[in-house]
Amino acid sequence: MRLSATFKVGEVSVAALSDAATEMPVPKFFNNVPVHQWTKALSIKAPDDNVPFNFGSFLLRGNSRTVLLDTGFGEQGPYTEAEGAGGLLDRIRDLGVNLEEIDAVIHTHLHFDHVGWNTVPQEGQRIPTFPNAVWRVSDEEIAWWNSGAVQPHPDYVGILEDVFDPIVERGKVETFSGEQLIEPFLTSIPTPGHTPGHTSFLLSSGGEHLLLVGDAAHHPEHLVNHEWVPAVDQDPTETTRSRRRIVDVAIEKNALVTGGHFPILTVGKLSESDSSIHFEPVNIDETVDFS
Ligand SMILES: [Zn+2]
Repeated sequence: MRLSATFKVGEVSVAALSDAATEMPVPKFFNNVPVHQWTKALSIKAPDDNVPFNFGSFLLRGNSRTVLLDTGFGEQGPYTEAEGAGGLLDRIRDLGVNLEEIDAVIHTHLHFDHVGWNTVPQEGQRIPTFPNAVWRVSDEEIAWWNSGAVQPHPDYVGILEDVFDPIVERGKVETFSGEQLIEPFLTSIPTPGHTPGHTSFLLSSGGEHLLLVGDAAHHPEHLVNHEWVPAVDQDPTETTRSRRRIVDVAIEKNALVTGGHFPILTVGKLSESDSSIHFEPVNIDETVDFS
């Protein structure tokens, strides 16, 4: 499976980077859907068949800014057997980008598979992996994690103490709320439901757009069928509404659409006709120069 790819959206360079690429059965992402419907949509024979699944981040570079969207599993990933597991930092360096050059780390949400490389160990402490970065997370997401209402994944209780608290303690977190221009080429699009503060991002440059959906969709079929709610989503009503919002924004902007859990270079455009939604894959022109 692909572990990285680079392409341009207007003047912005985009690198899709994996922190683990695996194949696994995905019934928990379609648990409220009749089996024959979702297996047909995914072109598999049985619900236990393997489906490609990525744990991905995006590195974005433009307007003299270098921005990392989500930070993978980090060292604590459960998919150590998966291709490329734990290799996000190497993949960034392979592009010729030093970790010191990253100006901002932006989180779609704070689940364990999106925050892992925020910190690294040094002399018994956890220190920020990207020493010059500011971290941006939605107000709503931080409030939820601070509310005591979160039931963390049993294997990852306390992970935020390792990978987020050290960032907060150093005063490196800046929050945002609602739809806001948070980088010169990046607008936050609130898409709550997977978590209460979950955010998607619209990249815009030179009249071109790329909608990075985060975990509002774990598979393009979740955009085609809003009401297909993964067991991993907190609020089925909100997450369904958020996916409708993504479709509306994507169609209005004629945006390319992709997500961190889609296999790398699964990029497409959404359209709607006769009240059914279509995801049409787009062949992306890759670039070799990430600058
Ligand atoms: Zn995720």
